[in-house]
Amino acid sequence: MEKGKPTVILGVFVADTAYRASRQPRMGETLLGSAFKLGPGGKGSNQAVAAARLGADVSFITRLGRDPFADMALTTWREAGVKPAVIETPESYTGAAYIFVEEESGNNAIIVCPGAATLISPADIEASADLIRSAGVFVTQLEQPIEAAIRALEIAREAGVTTILNPAPAAKLPPEIFALCDYATPNETEAEELTGIAVTSPADARRAGEALLEKGVGAAVVTLGEKGALLVDRDSAEHVPAFAAGPVVETTGAGDAFNGGFAVGLARGLTPAEAVRFGCAVAGISVTRPGTAPSMPELAEVEALLS
Ligand code: ADP
Repeated sequence: MEKGKPTVILGVFVADTAYRASRQPRMGETLLGSAFKLGPGGKGSNQAVAAARLGADVSFITRLGRDPFADMALTTWREAGVKPAVIETPESYTGAAYIFVEEESGNNAIIVCPGAATLISPADIEASADLIRSAGVFVTQLEQPIEAAIRALEIAREAGVTTILNPAPAAKLPPEIFALCDYATPNETEAEELTGIAVTSPADARRAGEALLEKGVGAAVVTLGEKGALLVDRDSAEHVPAFAAGPVVETTGAGDAFNGGFAVGLARGLTPAEAVRFGCAVAGISVTRPGTAPSMPELAEVEALLS
């Protein structure tokens, strides 16, 4: 497969700081935990890393503070081959997430402070307009301010760039955003938030996808965890099963792996259904490995799974 057209992603980086302990501390209490892990996170950044690991030409638009977590972001992208389009924001700080992991259950509770990324504005997007116009595929999510996402989607649309909105985390959206999306890629929870239709099966996903088409998206890809994904467009609905690439170790970031892979598939000229299958293969490998950004596969591994 050839390298494909450039992919441009707008989104957020956060440093994930994960603390394992028996329980959450009470107010005023200090508790000893049993483990700590620091790693790169943020949906947009994870998607950019996933896409770049596949050998694609990927630029990432965001804001970072001037601090050690900004260095971590830049190192992560350099190692993956992501080209940063970063506005340095020394008056704020690089995003960070506190992740409490309960020892017994493995369940988590999270606080995210996006920091500098909360300042991403439509004016920032104007400054990156030429970069967006040069793309084959543009991707964004909902972690940065929605006005910035809308402006970027408008610029991409006007230039004939294929647009993907990964509507995560789940949120209600202004109605005008839907017609700017060639593809919307919600998971089950996000699809329900946007359409009011509870999604637990491919049949539900089809109805939710059709509701998104009515709102104006070109096509919907509803991801269904271990059940794969459903592609719904004007003419048809196609269920693409998930890949069992090995024992499942960690599903955090599966959606990011899917979106990075799906974008690269489209940028390389695959049909929408082939690109969904490609995205499912990327995500299917990522869930067999620990971590989010570090679990993203390389192209050869994905091609081996698909062949
Ligand atoms: P999110 O991480 O946003 O909740 P999903 O759980 O829907 O997204 O997962 C996105 C994609 O990742 C799915 O469409 C599927 O291809 C893949 N995936 C998720 N969980 C598994 C799993 N347990 N086994 C194989 N593939 C999976």
